[in-house]
Amino acid sequence: MRERLERVQRLSQRVEEIADPDAREAAEELVDAVLELHGAGLARIGELLEGMGEAGAEAKRGLLADDEVAELLLIHGLMPLPPASEELPVVGAGGELPVVQAGCGTNGNGAAAPDRVTGLKERCELCQAELPAEHRHLLHLEERTILCACETCVAMRSGEGPYRPTGTRLLWLGDFELPDELWAGLRIPIGLAFFMRSSSAGRVVGMYPSPAGATECELQLSAWEDLCAANPVLDGLDEDVEGLIVNLTGGRRQFAIAPIDDCYRLVGAIRDGWEGISGGGAVERVVPAFLGELRERAEVAA
Ligand SMILES: [Zn+2]
Ligand SMILES: [Zn+2]
Repeated sequence: MRERLERVQRLSQRVEEIADPDAREAAEELVDAVLELHGAGLARIGELLEGMGEAGAEAKRGLLADDEVAELLLIHGLMPLPPASEELPVVGAGGELPVVQAGCGTNGNGAAAPDRVTGLKERCELCQAELPAEHRHLLHLEERTILCACETCVAMRSGEGPYRPTGTRLLWLGDFELPDELWAGLRIPIGLAFFMRSSSAGRVVGMYPSPAGATECELQLSAWEDLCAANPVLDGLDEDVEGLIVNLTGGRRQFAIAPIDDCYRLVGAIRDGWEGISGGGAVERVVPAFLGELRERAEVAA
């Protein structure tokens, strides 16, 4: 599977280099059309399994447990198939999750950046005041959105009803313990994710990037407890407002506790840079730069 993916990546690189624009466009369209066809087929298989009761659920669990199938579903933005036993809605696309794009410039619903589209400045989403590029964010716990906010609104609304200010702590965890088998047990199909205690879900959830945006997965409580036992710093992870970023891509081992808007911004930046079937190296391009910048701003945990 790895080799096939690498082959796809090499070939799509060659397609990008085709000088004739008509031929290039046709080749790119062909790739998209084939992807769409297979994605629709896979989605249909998922639907059919869902209609097959316990036997279908069983088959689905077996498929999800297979790394190669999981990777294929990830490519099509179909991972994870909602496990039948799961009451929490599994969100496949970024649309329902707060997504803050790189350099902000978006509201919590992932709408296009107003300044990019119209040249207008970012505005406070509560009082419409103009905002500087660097500004605070408020979390809406019930709607699970992140709102750009001015200092006044942050001061006045924080703690009121569903509003919470996003975390401010940025802690680089130099000697974090993550045994391989524990990571494998978390079943994240890509070497990058963040984890947060979610008050609305009543549990710890993991989010990882995919072509469709942030994909949410359920976390086994025991795996999270093992992680906390190995890293007591996690006991102080604030609910909803901050997250643990884990980056194992490119052979790195980087860990940080970051404000939740930074966590979503990382996932959004990867989605924005995602190209074609395998991401076109989005992860390799975006992640080191993002985490390098984060590390510069961060305090280093003692
Ligand atoms: Zn305001
Ligand atoms: Zn903002």
